[in-house]
Amino acid sequence: MSERDFSKIKRVVVKIGSSSITHKESGGADLIRLEKLVRELTDIHNGGRDVVLVSSGAISVGLKAARITDTYYDGSAEEDGPDNKLALKQAAAAIGQARLMMLYQKFFAEYSQLTAQVLMTKRTVTNDWNRLNVRNTFRELMNLGVIPVVNENDSISTYEIQFGDNDTLSAMVTALVDADLLILLSDIDGLYTDDPRKNKDAEFIPYIERLTDRFDSFAKGSTGSLSGTGGMATKIHAAHIATDSGADMVIANAADLNVIHRIMAGEDVGTLIRGHRKQDFYLKDYFSDD
Ligand code: GLU
Repeated sequence: MSERDFSKIKRVVVKIGSSSITHKESGGADLIRLEKLVRELTDIHNGGRDVVLVSSGAISVGLKAARITDTYYDGSAEEDGPDNKLALKQAAAAIGQARLMMLYQKFFAEYSQLTAQVLMTKRTVTNDWNRLNVRNTFRELMNLGVIPVVNENDSISTYEIQFGDNDTLSAMVTALVDADLLILLSDIDGLYTDDPRKNKDAEFIPYIERLTDRFDSFAKGSTGSLSGTGGMATKIHAAHIATDSGADMVIANAADLNVIHRIMAGEDVGTLIRGHRKQDFYLKDYFSDD
């Protein structure tokens, strides 16, 4: 099935989950993987493409950096009510996001690659002015040759204004910047007919020409990894947004980060879902409660 030809792709969004850039045991940043990720992205950029990275990891890295242990996190914070537990998580995100950006800056600088941070909430997309502004900001950043690093603004986003998962955020960013391709990297090889961890008969789906509602049932009941929030359901939801906006999407395993340039070279890795621009595509339609 070598119908994949990404040679004409001009703009790509890559999403990486917390579990792919942090250590499972401690939650701390995995420097070796971060460095590889940055090298892969800079190389795509050097090849003449615009690149945007959507990176999770702020909360995980922040919890580790501030030595917020499970006992402290689940115990003492809860005594003061659930709001404080949220506040603690948001404080961890503030610490972790800064640390993560420091690492991204350092690794990108090694390749003389400019980077920048863009933090968003759901409101950035639902509010017309904010949406216009962030779109313009992305455009200018890419004109300047920058690889923006995007995350949810976890320190201020509460339930009403949060995306909740970076799968959805990355699809929104794909639509906002008119990317041709979204590469969604996770700890799973791609899309299966059922959860392969629970059902041995689950079959891998390498290619979807057109994403229909039929595929939504494949993701039912599937859970995400331990440190991230996105399961298969959020990936399918993200795929609806990205492919309706006209972008192709590849869901692939981040176990080996070489997968990024292999995908760009057109290799058959992961699940490819073809984009078909919806005529009346309107980003705000993808929020059920707004
Ligand atoms: N924004 C969260 C973080 O940086 C991650 C959300 C997700 O796992 O999708 O920690």
